[in-house]
Amino acid sequence: MLYKVKDEITKNYDVVIVGAGLAGMTAANILGRNGHSVLLLESHNKLGGFATWFYRNDRNHVFDISLHGFPVGMIKTCRKYWSKEIADSIVQLKDVRFVNPQFTIQTDFTKEDYTNVMVEKFHLERETVDAFFDFLSKMNFYDNSQMTNRELFNKFFPGRNDVIRFLMEPITYANGSTLEDPAISYGIVFSNFMSKGVYTFRGGTDTLIGKMKEELLKNNVDIKLQAKVEKITISNNAASGVVINGKKINSRVVLSNSNIRSTVLDLVGEEFFPKDFLSKTKGTRLNSSSCQVYMGLKEGEKIPYIGELVFTSSYPTYDPARLLDLKVSSRTFSVYYPEESRPQEENARVAIVSSTNCQYDDWKNLTPEDYELEKKFMIEETIKGLEVFIPDIRDKLEIIEAATPLTVERYTLHPKGTSFGTKFEGLEVSMNLHKTIPGLFHAGSVGIIMSGWLGAANYGVIQANAIESYLGTGV
Ligand SMILES: Cc1cc2nc3c(=O)[nH]c(=O)nc-3n(C[C@H](O)[C@H](O)[C@H](O)COP(=O)(O)OP(=O)(O)OC[C@H]3O[C@@H](n4cnc5c(N)ncnc54)[C@H](O)[C@@H]3O)c2cc1C
Repeated sequence: MLYKVKDEITKNYDVVIVGAGLAGMTAANILGRNGHSVLLLESHNKLGGFATWFYRNDRNHVFDISLHGFPVGMIKTCRKYWSKEIADSIVQLKDVRFVNPQFTIQTDFTKEDYTNVMVEKFHLERETVDAFFDFLSKMNFYDNSQMTNRELFNKFFPGRNDVIRFLMEPITYANGSTLEDPAISYGIVFSNFMSKGVYTFRGGTDTLIGKMKEELLKNNVDIKLQAKVEKITISNNAASGVVINGKKINSRVVLSNSNIRSTVLDLVGEEFFPKDFLSKTKGTRLNSSSCQVYMGLKEGEKIPYIGELVFTSSYPTYDPARLLDLKVSSRTFSVYYPEESRPQEENARVAIVSSTNCQYDDWKNLTPEDYELEKKFMIEETIKGLEVFIPDIRDKLEIIEAATPLTVERYTLHPKGTSFGTKFEGLEVSMNLHKTIPGLFHAGSVGIIMSGWLGAANYGVIQANAIESYLGTGV
């Protein structure tokens, strides 16, 4: 059932889930489908977490926030844990482009095409390229390798900043990874993407989340929106429920889809954890955040086809620090052509979303006046960047809005607006949570590998299995 905002919840549950991002929702669906009583609590007024969208001008415009591209594995995950209908709407992005001072390349982002580009355009030996991809594919999460991305690239492509840019820039855009991050997370993320290209959900995020909501209700998951969990309660050293609006809801298991640091330090509280666990939690670094500019066309306006995902930069070389700079000159344009992205909607308009990585503190520390000025600057620079491809774009736009890390923080409650959870070390904290406090689980963006649409959904699957084992033991 879908609780109304004013409803009071008096029922006890097997599992209460804090947060309805893709991890929380996927876990809820599996547990509900398998007959457990599940309550899904979400502080926002809609499901989805980062998998979200917004409308403007009476729904004439719709903007997807994080539907830019995910790996092919999402098809299998959706078919197995959601529905065939959802899985069948996932389609490949055919046209990914790079435009920067070092190269202009069009690719379908598959391993075959990448290999060809690296051999033909970058004049690398095919054996070296094959050895690189082979090395990536053999990387295993359980390997205890200390190799960084910098070392990885130096091993195969020493002195080739252009090649590193081609391999690394999309990943930096996607999840804020730098050359100092562990090569293992790059290897796993990149191998996933490279296997068969980049995919999207045809129909838009609103359609997807609508279908997921139907599925959750069909599987008897109880849902309450605008329900911010204030506390996760611990009794006799085990999770015992949550508190919303000052009222306790009892459960045998609590699964938190909130940020791992917030879960431990705020929702549960430091007093319930051993010292070493706390120091690992406090030592867990957050990932960077995102800025976006949303652009919607006037009625009847069209644009030439410029690709679906365009990585653009006017910066001479690949430099991860510059990609996070307030005065960034690199951005990704996701272009949503209605006939491709929302074929179900008559008269849907072209939407363009520009994304950049950025640092929360750069925005947080601005005065309100400077904050508005920086937003204006970002919008202006974005339009100028787009004019390179569509010279008359400025006259065609009806909507131009921007979001900053402060927007991200406000809507998802992620500390510092982190858009990809935590760095690698967060995974260990998250996975050990239920070993530290029985009945308390976490699923959600951590460690880069468990982030992104596929990573988060799959982490929901992993934790749902762990919860079932826990419930099965009758603890
Ligand atoms: C701008 C941007 C672009 C992105 N682009 C892509 C992309 O192209 N491809 C890709 O794969 N990934 C992308 N991502 C990342 C991807 O969207 C996320 O990694 C993924 O959706 C995170 O899912 P999650 O389950 O970790 O939960 P989240 O989406 O973080 O959701 C957590 C939910 O918990 C709720 N919550 C938190 N605390 C509480 C509380 N106390 N009480 C109740 N509710 C609470 C929040 O409101 C939120 O709804 C992007 C992210 C951003 C920000």
